[in-house]
Amino acid sequence: FIDITGVRKSYGEHEVLKGVDLSVDQHEVVCLIGASGSGKSTLLRCVNALEDISAGSISIDGDVVSGPGVDVDALRRDVGMVFQSYNLFPHMSVLRNITLGPVELAGRSREEAEQHALELLDRIGLAAKAGSYPDGLSGGQQQRVAIVRAMAMRPRVLLLDEITAALDPELVAEVLGIVRDLAADGMTMLLATHEMAFAREVSSKVCFLHQGVLLEQGPPEQIFTDPREERTRAFLSSVI
Ligand code: ATP
Ligand code: MG
Repeated sequence: FIDITGVRKSYGEHEVLKGVDLSVDQHEVVCLIGASGSGKSTLLRCVNALEDISAGSISIDGDVVSGPGVDVDALRRDVGMVFQSYNLFPHMSVLRNITLGPVELAGRSREEAEQHALELLDRIGLAAKAGSYPDGLSGGQQQRVAIVRAMAMRPRVLLLDEITAALDPELVAEVLGIVRDLAADGMTMLLATHEMAFAREVSSKVCFLHQGVLLEQGPPEQIFTDPREERTRAFLSSVI
């Protein structure tokens, strides 16, 4: 569904992605793991055309989304992305944060967008916060709203970059719970995480990036219990 082929990305002289091949099937959850600086965020940003790639190609559901001539606005309507810092608009209510994209970018009516937003908020137990502003929410609540905001666009795939990294440990579980629910609903997701236990539980495939090379990929059980590569082993023993 997401096909990443031979993707290279350089910043000046520094090649950050060195020919990455990776595919994510529909309804599949793929986790990117690897040391800080290995290229996880860069790869996610390339999929969403937040970065140009230097070589290779990326397609989503058969549509090439890399290179010249790509309709970036249409792509971002289809590809939801949530970052480490929740990036909610502070001067807008929770409801407005969620309906802004569907109304302004996707051309949905305000009524329909609000109804959908309330349904999504209800599902995560935050319907009562619809009229609140972001600073009246906990970090975990804000991050859950950020995920709902991405889902409100009815994306075909969701990219999640370290969405629990800025949260206090007691708030991590509630955010991971939402990702687990989305996975159960069949959402296609590509995510970068330092939460190894979560990666192991939620993903169908785990990919280990090392210095811009996808060194090893496989089912979580195999990667976490019997990695083939010495570098994967070394990384896992440093973080678990
Ligand atoms: P982390 O786990 O810390 O989030 P990461 O695996 O997401 O790390 P990236 O953010 O993708 O790593 O960064 C990969 C490399 O690319 C790093 O060496 C980083 O310094 C470099 N890099 C990232 N963004 C830029 C940029 N805008 N300009 C120059 N170099 C960059
Ligand atoms: Mg990163």
